[in-house]
Parts: sequence; structure tokens; C-alpha cells
Amino acid sequence: MTQRLYYNDAYLTVFDATIVEVTEGGRRVYLDRTALYPTSGGQLFDTGTLGGRRVVDVVDEESRIAHLLAEPLAQTSGSVEGRVDWARRFDHMQQHTGQHLLSAVLEDLYGWKTVSVHFGDETSTLDVDAGAAPRAKLDAAEWRANEVIAENRSVGVSYEDAAAATGLRKATERSGEIRIVTIAELDRSACGGTHVRATGEIGGLLLRRVEQVKQGTRIEFVCGLRAVARARADYASLSGIAASLSCGVDEAAAVVAQRMEAAREGEAARRKLAKELDAYRARERYEATPPDARGVRRVVERRAEGSLDDLKGFAHAVCALPRAAFVGVLAASGRVLVGTSEDSGLVAGTVLKDALAAAGGRGGGSPRMAQGAVAVARAEGVVQAVLNAWDRET
Ligand SMILES: [Zn+2]
Repeated sequence: MTQRLYYNDAYLTVFDATIVEVTEGGRRVYLDRTALYPTSGGQLFDTGTLGGRRVVDVVDEESRIAHLLAEPLAQTSGSVEGRVDWARRFDHMQQHTGQHLLSAVLEDLYGWKTVSVHFGDETSTLDVDAGAAPRAKLDAAEWRANEVIAENRSVGVSYEDAAAATGLRKATERSGEIRIVTIAELDRSACGGTHVRATGEIGGLLLRRVEQVKQGTRIEFVCGLRAVARARADYASLSGIAASLSCGVDEAAAVVAQRMEAAREGEAARRKLAKELDAYRARERYEATPPDARGVRRVVERRAEGSLDDLKGFAHAVCALPRAAFVGVLAASGRVLVGTSEDSGLVAGTVLKDALAAAGGRGGGSPRMAQGAVAVARAEGVVQAVLNAWDRET
């Protein structure tokens, strides 16, 4: 049985303990007592050192706690000094106590019960049984939580019999003696984690992303220095956006919305002009192309590169004219596009499919419009094959 020193003093960072057992070649160590917190109840393990060796994981094995080390411990018995990485531990204490506070405020204000909690390396989340969590309600809860932080209420630990303990936020499944963490005049919760001694040490609480999940609503939150670091990163990102828009950070969202709308309008205007240009150029090429023996004008468009969509726009413009056929190629990518007008008597799909198959390419389409791709060196050969096939039909 390992004595858990963190139960009664979450601020203990240096301790002496007696080695009980060492396994895995000195990398897994059991002690008679420890201040290093093992991953449990959602709270992540502490790091630190044991006998000068780095602690990389702490595992709760119910009656015992295993300390996993980066390098083997030199000794297998006797006394050893342990140290807790305080920055990491205190951060966990801030997030964990902040979670108790947030759960209490959400339930007291709105009756939303916490169904699960996840503490992450960057942010933590809390799931409540609410179908929807309007932003205004979340903002009010955030404000209330920060008021309680400023009130610096005491956070204490007591041990009570589970059957006799009253006023717990959530009924415990345990029996016998339970550990209860109390935020003065706000919350009593059964918990085995590490907490700060007064709400002021939570530092501050910031709500972030909110999303609907199967069991209700997931609320992301950060506390203490993490909240400061997060707000700092948010400001850096927002001020970068504002600088590129030459506006203030408070105007950035509105300016982005304006620019997006302007871009959409610009794109619509560009498409309209491109269509008009395609129609104009199609007519020009059509008139410059002599009709074949059956009176069909076959426009061949060779482009080094460009988008297939642009080529399609031009193909549709050509094929909208009477007795017209179109063969287009993007030489750099080996893309081939074939089109025919309804009254041309020529087909696109099967003709292109056959020509591509013979050249080791792939593609096809409808009798009116077809597309495909082939090795770049063979693209021109496919163009000729399509024209030859049409010659045979003529
Ligand atoms: Zn707790």
C-alpha cells in the first residue's frame, strides 16, 4: 500500500520515501509513500524526479503506485528523494479546481449537470446534459465563475463516511470513507485529485469552444496561466489578421465578412465575364473554322496549361453553336476534352473513350461532352485519333 502524500498536502514538492520494490531493470519503482500524482479521475500524472532520475509516468495500481523512470534507479532499497515538477502539477491543480467551480456554477445557474470531464495537455472539456448552451448563458457562467475566483473562497479536503455524507453534487458509488473536496458555500464533491487551497489560485477561467455531442454539450475551458497563454496566442493571431486587413482587432471580424462578400461578388462577376468571353471567342474560332464534308465545324483548342473548368467553359460555348464539335487538350497535364453539338451527328463519349484506351489513358462521358487523361506525350495522338474517328463517320 503506497501512502498518497498528495491527498493531504497538494503543495508538497520534495519528499523522502523508502523503496519497497524495483522492477523492469530499475525503471519501475514502488515506494512506501509518494507525493507524485498518478493518472486518475481524469487528472494527468505528475512528472518530476526520483533519486535524480526523470519520472516519465506515474501509474495508479489501486493499492500501489508505480513510478516509471527514464533511466534505471541505481539503488534497489533504502531511502530515496522524490521531487514533483511544480509548474506542471500547479497547472493541473488550477484546471482541476476550475472544473469543480465551473461544474458547480453551471448546475447552480442552469441546472446543467456535468456528465464527464476530460483534462488535456492544452485545453480541458466538460460535458453537460444540456441540449443547447446559448452563448449568453455561457458568458454569464464564465463571469460568475471569475467572481467566485476573485472572492478567494477556501477549498478544503475532508474525509467522511459515504453513507453519512450529505450535500454532495454527485452521489458517490463508493462506500466507507470518502475524500470530499469543498469550495466554501458552493460545492461538495467526492474527488481524489489535487486542488488549490483557495479559489483565487485558479487565477482565472476562460470558456472557449462549445459543441454539441451525443450526451449534450461539450464546453472547452482553460484556467490560470493557461488562460493567459491562450489569450496571448489568440491576440497574436487576431492582431495578425487585423494587420493584414489594416484595421483594428475589434473590427477584424466585420472587415473579413465584408471582404468575403466582396470576393463572392467579384467571383460571380468574373464568371459572368468569362462566359461572355468564351461565347465571343467561340464564335470567332467557329467562323474561322471551315466546315468539314458534312458541314460540321470542328474547333481544336490546344492549351499548354490551365484549368479543365476553363477549357470546359470554352467547349460548352463552342458546342452551343449549330453543327459544332470541339476537341481541347491541356498539353502539360495530358487532359483531353471532347464535345459535340446536338445537331452535329457526331458523338463525344465513346469516340474519346476508344481513343484514350488505345493510348493507355482513361476517360469517357456522354455523347455531348467527355473528358479524360493520358500520358502527356500521347495527348496530341488522342486529339488526332478523335478527329480521324469522326472522319470515318463522315
Ligand atoms: Zn477534484
